[in-house]
Amino acid sequence: MKTVRLNNGVEMPQIGYGVYQVSPSECERCVSNALECGYRMIDTAQAYHNEEGVGKAVKNSGIKRNEIFIVSKVWISNYGYENARKSIDESLKKLQTDYIDLMLLHQPFCDRYGAYRALEEAYKEGKLRAIGVSNFYPDHFIDIASNMEIIPAVNQVETHVFNQQIEAQKIMEEFGTRIMSWGPLAEGRNNFFNNTILANIGAKYGKSIAQVALRWLIQRGVIIIPKSTHIERMKENIDIFDFSLSQEDMENIAKLDTGKSLFFDHHDADTVRMFMGWR
Ligand code: NDP
Repeated sequence: MKTVRLNNGVEMPQIGYGVYQVSPSECERCVSNALECGYRMIDTAQAYHNEEGVGKAVKNSGIKRNEIFIVSKVWISNYGYENARKSIDESLKKLQTDYIDLMLLHQPFCDRYGAYRALEEAYKEGKLRAIGVSNFYPDHFIDIASNMEIIPAVNQVETHVFNQQIEAQKIMEEFGTRIMSWGPLAEGRNNFFNNTILANIGAKYGKSIAQVALRWLIQRGVIIIPKSTHIERMKENIDIFDFSLSQEDMENIAKLDTGKSLFFDHHDADTVRMFMGWR
């Protein structure tokens, strides 16, 4: 399993399995399938309401706990120091574990400083092996990374061929923070699964569009967590370590960047209002 080293020395698999929009009833089966396919990192969140399913699958897998890397995220309704502390303990219980490998703040809104202090404290207590943030774009990211005691190990942001985050990645790297992609397959938006540039590159290597896009992220040093509820696709998405994209392929894929989100802009007033409704 290819790993990356985080800024505190912890090794993290570069590919994992994400469970956003995997229903609580399906989550255990999906995570069990993903572990069978060789995934050793699972990305969940308090807001996905499926941490229990992840915990059951990990527990029943027969794989040693220290061979599986669990990522979760604190939701904004649990922000502020006290609430975040409580919510970390609840996540530990739901995941049936004594420690979470990486805990992130899910969004850059509400009392994120209080919540981040709770992450720092839980990290020092050994409940979290690494801490970080998600959806913190350069403005919010530089602010938190400059002001907190522990620099985020990871920042998980929307990253795929249409929104490549080239500048944001450079800024994260200035702080020694790793970029982690959510939506590595663009959730299929913008006709992703019919993209001719990716299809033509894939044809040269006998690889699918999904495999080319995921491999391109791996070669950029990005941590990825593709999601599928189908075991055949889980296998396909992890089968990307037996080929390399050429410099020319990388440059052709770079041309697909629009520099814009396919989902929502965290700086847009309506987006912020939407999140305030989910506190
Ligand atoms: P992805 O880019 O991983 O795309 C998932 C979609 O692609 C699903 O519809 C899936 O369908 C389909 N798919 C997967 N593999 C293939 C394939 N090989 N061929 C064809 N279709 C395929 O989107 P996600 O938004 O799920 O992102 C991945 C993970 O990132 C999430 O699960 C979550 O863990 C994390 N995330 C984090 C966010 C954050 O705010 N921090 C926001 C969003 C996601 P099917 O399941 O039917 O196979």
